[in-house]
Amino acid sequence: MFDSRLQQFLESIIFQTFGKNPSITEIQYVGGGCINNTLKVSFDKEQYFVKWNEDEENDMFQKEELGLSKLREVNSLNIPKTYQFGRIEGRNYLIMEFIEREATKDDFWEILGQNLAALHQNTQDTFGLDHNNYIGRLPQKNDKKSNWIDFLIDNRFEVQLGLAIYNGLINSDFAKKFRNLYPQLPGLLVQEPSSLLHGDLWSGNFMVGRKGLPFLIDPAIYYGNREVEIAFTQLFGGFDRKFYNAYNEVLPLESDFQTRAEIYNLYPLLVHVNLFGTSYLSGIQRVLNKYC
Ligand code: ADP
Repeated sequence: MFDSRLQQFLESIIFQTFGKNPSITEIQYVGGGCINNTLKVSFDKEQYFVKWNEDEENDMFQKEELGLSKLREVNSLNIPKTYQFGRIEGRNYLIMEFIEREATKDDFWEILGQNLAALHQNTQDTFGLDHNNYIGRLPQKNDKKSNWIDFLIDNRFEVQLGLAIYNGLINSDFAKKFRNLYPQLPGLLVQEPSSLLHGDLWSGNFMVGRKGLPFLIDPAIYYGNREVEIAFTQLFGGFDRKFYNAYNEVLPLESDFQTRAEIYNLYPLLVHVNLFGTSYLSGIQRVLNKYC
């Protein structure tokens, strides 16, 4: 059962969002999140998805809302509508459309591949974004750069490496070895346009929604080299071959893309070290041993 404090909190945020006193008919926990509390809340015959936490006041949900809105604007993916974010009674919250799960459409993977390729066709001149955001609950720096490798080193690797050193998760030898990779990057990576990326695309961040179609959630958007996004889809598995075939039909990857995937995945692995601990270091070490 739900305590009255939670019920009151939900009534308050619904009042703030929709301007009416709701009569809540159902509250259900939704599992699967790594970071926040997540609920399905029903009232007025509609369902809503509410995320909340009791962290100190921060702009994490504001940034999530900005990311979802930006992705929805470019109109290549199904993205849940967002209604409101804010803070009330010591809780940060975000209210959005509830995605009702339906049976997966036969061509689900093809559609996801095509939709992602359409997203990546939104390009700009610089790498980065006009605001910083979060990857999981860690800060993600998006200072704009005209050079992709500078972006990758300064805004991605160095930020996470610094955090790992600060938290005592890696020592200076490990950091030195990691930094030995930097001078090699120009010879290893290829130029690509700067594409709008979901930024955190793993199998936990897409859902099968209405009509069995893919819906994307929990983005960490920025403009970057699209290879980084495709590499991450491979890191923890869960994407069907049909997804990659469909993506490649619309926006082919370079034939040697696979040789770079493990370098790009050093970023999410460092993020995992900082979020979940040192068991993810061995994956990084393996790649560093190859190059350094
Ligand atoms: P967290 O911020 O904790 O990572 P998520 O955004 O990943 O939370 O959401 C947790 C789970 O809730 C997801 O794995 C998914 O199953 C479900 N979920 C996320 N967004 C929605 C939504 N708009 N409608 C219905 N279910 C959702």
